[in-house]
Amino acid sequence: MKKLQLLPVGNPDPRLLEWLRQSLADKFRVRAEILADTLDPTFAVHTERQQFHSSEIIAAVQPHINRDTWRLLAITERDLYIPILTFVFGEAQMGGPCGVVSAHRLRQEFYGLSPNSEILQERLRKEAVHEIGHTLDLTHCDDYQCAMAPSHAVEWIDLKDSGLCSSCRARVRVS
Ligand SMILES: [Zn+2]
Ligand SMILES: [Zn+2]
Repeated sequence: MKKLQLLPVGNPDPRLLEWLRQSLADKFRVRAEILADTLDPTFAVHTERQQFHSSEIIAAVQPHINRDTWRLLAITERDLYIPILTFVFGEAQMGGPCGVVSAHRLRQEFYGLSPNSEILQERLRKEAVHEIGHTLDLTHCDDYQCAMAPSHAVEWIDLKDSGLCSSCRARVRVS
């Protein structure tokens, strides 16, 4: 049986990673594992921006795909960007199999607020489901509560659910 594989990129919090693994296994009803491999994202840094190019990270995770891979999601706490945007929460290959999500801007501390692990976990799960949704060929959804709604700020993420709306769900077999 193929697995959802999480690839740590640049030392993300192991407890957060394990929480996400369990949560995504339940959500997608698949086996999920954290790969023993890791990826050092230094090659993708843009020194002036102090950010990491998400498309370059997606290219670099390709060699980590193996015969057990259903979907491969890279998890990082580094700040991601693509050149036309100031930042991205994540990026994925439409139709799969790889994506990347960042917890960097999902932490309350990033906005000068007190740390809150539950808020962080919920946001990360929503963005992980969103990027996995893209790898399952889902495009952005007009339902602002659907995990496939686009988010350009955490306030938008907080409005979303970690699940898919009925029309997105009908397009993939996901709980
Ligand atoms: Zn998207
Ligand atoms: Zn939807």
